[in-house]
Amino acid sequence: MTLARWIAALCLSMGPLAAADDPNRQLARDIFQQLIEINTTDSVGSTTQAAQAMARRLLDAGFPAEDVKVLGPNERKGNLVVSVHGTGTGRKPILIMCHLDVVEARRTDWTTDPFQFVEKDGYFYGRGTQDVKENDAALVADLIRLHREGWRPNRDLIVALTADEEGGQSNGVDWLLKNHRDLIDAEFAINPDAGGVTSAKGKIVNVDVEASEKLYADFEFSVTNPGGHSSLPVPDNAIYHLAGALGKLEKFTFPLDLNPITRTYFERRAPLENGQVKDDMNAILHVPPVAAAVVRLSSDPRYNALLRTTCVATRLNGGHANNALPQLAQANVNCRILPGHSPEEIRRMLVDVVADPKVKVSYVVGDGQVSDRAPETKAFPPVMPSAEILRPLERVAAELWPGAPVIPEMETGASDSTKTVAVGIPSYGINGMAIDQDDIRAHGKDERIRVSSYYDGVEFFYRYLQALLEK
Ligand SMILES: [Zn+2]
Repeated sequence: MTLARWIAALCLSMGPLAAADDPNRQLARDIFQQLIEINTTDSVGSTTQAAQAMARRLLDAGFPAEDVKVLGPNERKGNLVVSVHGTGTGRKPILIMCHLDVVEARRTDWTTDPFQFVEKDGYFYGRGTQDVKENDAALVADLIRLHREGWRPNRDLIVALTADEEGGQSNGVDWLLKNHRDLIDAEFAINPDAGGVTSAKGKIVNVDVEASEKLYADFEFSVTNPGGHSSLPVPDNAIYHLAGALGKLEKFTFPLDLNPITRTYFERRAPLENGQVKDDMNAILHVPPVAAAVVRLSSDPRYNALLRTTCVATRLNGGHANNALPQLAQANVNCRILPGHSPEEIRRMLVDVVADPKVKVSYVVGDGQVSDRAPETKAFPPVMPSAEILRPLERVAAELWPGAPVIPEMETGASDSTKTVAVGIPSYGINGMAIDQDDIRAHGKDERIRVSSYYDGVEFFYRYLQALLEK
């Protein structure tokens, strides 16, 4: 590499907020550190403490007290709701929601203390650096920066930083929708807990917009039997029936089912790949799709999960004594259902797959409760984000990461967007934090984000909010 190219590459990798003495950069770092060091786990942490700390910063920066609210069902599960008043075009507000809670982390599992903000080897380490305090911090830092610059959006903007996305009993989005719908009601929502920037060894590959999510459902396979003495075995055995059912599930594959989002995803992703994967991505888009390409792509769990509904055995329980025939055998089967299909539809398919009347297939309601039938509600049908959302995103992405395409995607897990979508608020996963595709550490040990990626992600929302709300 020539010196000039090396300097150009260095400047690019350092991002637009390169000056270390930039006060906005320092503020973004301080807020990030403060959030990481406030424990917000369900077991011993408090999102109220984090919400109040962020509220304090906004109030100190001059936000009116009536526009900064911390509220929740109890003293540990507070949510922050900030309103930024627009110039008033009569349109409904835009909501940005981002969870404050983090997954549990044990000091003994980690190289550093997960609740200490550590900068090391070009990375920030700490629980929540990828999921998703980096975006909480970016939003608060950007709101303060925009407020100081006197920015007024062209309609109201609501930012909600919330509790219990990862677990716990007090999901903040759910609670706000049920108790203070007026505070967070919006035309559409942006959820930085999904989407984002994909990089490989620090090089930006593409920008993802999460436009659809799979539906989560657990089913219980259970077999009961009168049992008896194990010295007198009979063929009709609960464990054998269950094992047979699980064997059939293992061999069963749900049919390929592309929707507008996954179709666009593979169309735009193919040019970024090479070799067989590139050819296969193009071949599955044929009508009809090339069967061998479907089989090859499906061998990668990431693509398999995009191509179809999946169901997998995750827990097993059976028998009551070594010397007794089992009276009960049970398995949990976890399904991730494509948009457009209901849990009850999948339950009936599982009954057909198992094809054994001795095996009962029930829907797991939760808290140990099961039901003979599953809900008929379908995951929200995939909707491509409108030009109003995409165009500013493409513009800002082109400024920050030239050449990286914006690609709509379907999330194979589920986020808080399921709650807003369920009440009719379309929700899209958008954020500007680049995570290397082979360095995804959310929920894992030594969670980290590249320092330069963090500052670029802060700059992203600063620019995107203005692009989105200033037309
Ligand atoms: Zn998350």
